[in-house]
Amino acid sequence: MGRRNRRRDDEPRGRDPESAASNETVESHPDGDWRVRKLRGSSSTKVYRCPGCDQEIPPATPHVVAWQDGDLDATHRRHWHAACWSKRHQRKPKFGM
Ligand SMILES: [Zn+2]
Repeated sequence: MGRRNRRRDDEPRGRDPESAASNETVESHPDGDWRVRKLRGSSSTKVYRCPGCDQEIPPATPHVVAWQDGDLDATHRRHWHAACWSKRHQRKPKFGM
């Protein structure tokens, strides 16, 4: 057998010129690539509902916005608590659950 699966943990950088100007990153997840933007929240005046815990994110709270890469108009952006986003894949479905 020749090559093994190439690891994807070293994303090529600079493939998205727009991200250079912001704190936006692309993360590889089991369900695809996600763009993640970290917000300080200082300019937010809206209350968002975090899909991770189904709790509200109050205005002026640092959090992240994530949407799937390729979602060009970003209509499916979701605002997450930073902690909930980072825990997203810790809640792996267990067999037999
Ligand atoms: Zn949350």
